[in-house]
Amino acid sequence: MTKSIDIEKLLQRVESLEKRVEKLDPTSKRQLPSKEKQIKNIKDEIEIWSKKFPSIDVEFELIKMLDWLKANNKRKKDYKAFFRNWLRKSSNSIEQSVEDVLKYVYGCTKPSKNCTNNESDYKDMYIFCEKCKAQKTIVKTIKN
Ligand SMILES: [Zn+2]
Repeated sequence: MTKSIDIEKLLQRVESLEKRVEKLDPTSKRQLPSKEKQIKNIKDEIEIWSKKFPSIDVEFELIKMLDWLKANNKRKKDYKAFFRNWLRKSSNSIEQSVEDVLKYVYGCTKPSKNCTNNESDYKDMYIFCEKCKAQKTIVKTIKN
């Protein structure tokens, strides 16, 4: 048995346990920690989230989600649940759009003025930015 299967099983187990907890003790009736604490918990589990959603940049999505909440002046009771849905939506939109995508544009998460984008036909390229010393991620897709 390989390690990745173990993780997959573990995640499934965690998820089913969470569902059982939700049934016994629904979020709506539960007292959840402060927003700051919840976000910190999510950050502490970033690696687990990345394994769960391998096609997306989970750390970047968290920043995007926090920006979105701020921009729309929204507060959530359960940030973890909201983040999970957020990741599901963005991973679905990546997978659904694969068929009509012609090219993927890779760019930096926090580009400086010397950063450039690269186009590729493939969605799993490893393109490194020397300026940022970081891996570029898909920032845009070019469609039919
Ligand atoms: Zn860069």
